[in-house]
Amino acid sequence: MIKYLFVIGVIWAIYYFFIKKKPNIDRYDYKQKQKKKTIHSNDMVKCASCGIYCEIDECILNSKKHYCSNECATQ
Ligand SMILES: [Zn+2]
Repeated sequence: MIKYLFVIGVIWAIYYFFIKKKPNIDRYDYKQKQKKKTIHSNDMVKCASCGIYCEIDECILNSKKHYCSNECATQ
């Protein structure tokens, strides 16, 4: 009888482990998707030099500040 309980316990543990692990993987994928979404979004950032708004993936990042062009970045 104790053997049966042990086997049931092991099966339950494996079952519980997989059930518990699955949502974490889903949440990770969701996070990755969210991350990709933010990268592809054309957020506008203000140029630290001239004040012009430019797309975040086209701007130049220099010392934690965004610039619209190389000219502004080197000023
Ligand atoms: Zn600028």
